[in-house]
Amino acid sequence: MSESKPKKKRRANFAMLNREVIKPGYCVSCGGCEAVCPVYVISIEQLIPKLVGACISCGACVDVCLRFKQRKEQPKYDDTSLGEIIELYKGHSVFENVREKAQNGGIVTTLLLNAMSKGDIDSALVTGHITDLLSPVPVLALNELDIKKSARSKYTLNPALTKLTSIKLSQKNSVAVVGLPCHIDTLTNAINMKNLGADYRVKYKIGLFCMSSYDPRNFRNIITQKLGLSADELSKTDCARGKFFFVGSDGTTDIKIKECAEAKAEGCKYCKDFSAEFADISIGNVGVDNDSNIIIIRTQAGKELFDLALKENVLDVEKIEQDKWSEVLVAALKLSSIKKKTAKPLPPIETN
Ligand SMILES: Cc1cc2nc3c(=O)[nH]c(=O)nc-3n(C[C@H](O)[C@H](O)[C@H](O)COP(=O)(O)OP(=O)(O)OC[C@H]3O[C@@H](n4cnc5c(N)ncnc54)[C@H](O)[C@@H]3O)c2cc1C
Ligand code: SF4
Ligand code: SF4
Ligand code: SF4
Repeated sequence: MSESKPKKKRRANFAMLNREVIKPGYCVSCGGCEAVCPVYVISIEQLIPKLVGACISCGACVDVCLRFKQRKEQPKYDDTSLGEIIELYKGHSVFENVREKAQNGGIVTTLLLNAMSKGDIDSALVTGHITDLLSPVPVLALNELDIKKSARSKYTLNPALTKLTSIKLSQKNSVAVVGLPCHIDTLTNAINMKNLGADYRVKYKIGLFCMSSYDPRNFRNIITQKLGLSADELSKTDCARGKFFFVGSDGTTDIKIKECAEAKAEGCKYCKDFSAEFADISIGNVGVDNDSNIIIIRTQAGKELFDLALKENVLDVEKIEQDKWSEVLVAALKLSSIKKKTAKPLPPIETN
């Protein structure tokens, strides 16, 4: 009887990432694969990861990708939960000049400014813009001005994690990373893989709530064709109560989110994480006044970052006792549950 040959394990490579994630439209342009490639042969071009050199089949891009992992492991999400919570707060920054330039209560910007001024972090991965708010640009902020300039939400796809390489090259070792749930998810994979030294370089993962991001070209078309606005005139974009709001020199224009559905990024249709469940601290606005934030502290690291700001009296916040959590989080729970229930299923893959 002839012995059956042992099955040869396929080596993970860019072709696999392309076949299982990019080509079928599951990619969310988070930027993680570009950052972890040891031979720098992945380049995110027009928000799509491309192979621009010879792949050495190390598998790092495949292992870091949140969508590949979700397809492989098929994690179960609890529709009725926002993930781990150790403390809950609502409120805003005490600094009026921060609140004026921030998206909501300026808590994210204030936590970063405070941590940097106290020497608790040496840099922050944030998202600014060059031309207009629909063109997000990841920035490794090395000073308070860079942090302040990056305030406010950008609603189009953002390859923020491409900046992880700059963190390594600049030898920064106490970095706060601000990201959407998908960024935080891929970053968590990089930390677990100890890739780029992310495990000791990243001190805090600050997650933002997120219902969806938009394709910049399609979103721009909606703004110009349906609303007659020019993106470079916008000083703020916001999304609340079922509408998008665009603030420009002539005031505020709004449109129903439903009417922007065609611009929703394809990869976001598979997303089940609303509240950045893998972050140390998650921050959003739903359920509170427009100029305030909801703050979910999830880990000891998140608590340290927040307590440092409390100690310096830079936050005007109210601690929510546990028996009131479900009341304060009712709107967030509703959005999270809708997101989990309506996300398209990611088909499983066999990798061996
Ligand atoms: C695409 C998107 C969708 C969102 N959807 C919701 C929602 O449905 N419900 C809700 O309650 N909140 C949502 N938020 C979060 C909300 O808009 C605010 O970011 C949050 O309340 C923090 O407010 P703040 O005043 O503390 O922020 P700020 O102090 O203004 O700081 C904002 C920080 O966010 C970073 N940032 C901006 N845009 C991006 C981006 N695209 N990717 C990564 N980082 C970015 C900036 O670098 C800055 O550090 C969303 C944010 C984004 C970017
Ligand atoms: S070398 Fe490694 S990280 Fe780079 S493309 Fe190939 S498998 Fe991906
Ligand atoms: S989701 Fe992120 S890690 Fe995965 S292929 Fe897209 S950019 Fe790369
Ligand atoms: S909906 Fe999900 S995948 Fe899309 S930007 Fe938000 S967190 Fe990322």
